Amino acid sequence: MSEKDTITGVKPCPFCGQADISVRSETIPVLGGTGDLQEVTIYQVCCKTCNAEGPSLMVKTTAKHAESEAAVLEQWNQRLGRHKDAPPNLKNCPFCGEQPEVLRDPEPAPILVEIFCSDCGATGPANDKDDLMVLWNKRA
Ligand SMILES: [Zn+2]
Ligand SMILES: [Zn+2]
Repeated sequence: MSEKDTITGVKPCPFCGQADISVRSETIPVLGGTGDLQEVTIYQVCCKTCNAEGPSLMVKTTAKHAESEAAVLEQWNQRLGRHKDAPPNLKNCPFCGEQPEVLRDPEPAPILVEIFCSDCGATGPANDKDDLMVLWNKRA
C-alpha cells in the first residue's frame, strides 16, 4: 500500500468497524435560490465493507478538492451518537446524534429499503441478506 492510497487519521466505520473507506464526489445540478441551475459537488465517505455512507457535504464546484475531502472526512470522524438517548427500536445516527428516518418501498408489500439520517445525509449499511435495522443498530 502506498502512502498516497491511505487516508490517514480516519476513524473506522461506526457500523462494521472496518476502516476500508473511500471518498466519493459527484457534481450535480441543483436549483439555486433565484431559480437557475447551479452545479454543486457532493462529497460523501463510503464504507466499502458494509455500504454505509457518512454525512454528505455539498460544496461549490470551485471549492478546492483537498479541502472538501478533508471537511467530509472530519464529518465522518465526528461521533455524537452516544450523547443522546436512543429511540426505542432504532439507534440515533452515529455521526450527528439525530434520529434516523426509515424509507419503505410501498410496492408490492411495504419493505424497508433504507435507513438514513436527513440531518447529516448519512445512510446505514445495506446488503441483501440482513435486516437493515439490525445493521443500523450495530455499532462497532
Ligand atoms: Zn461499514
Ligand atoms: Zn446524522
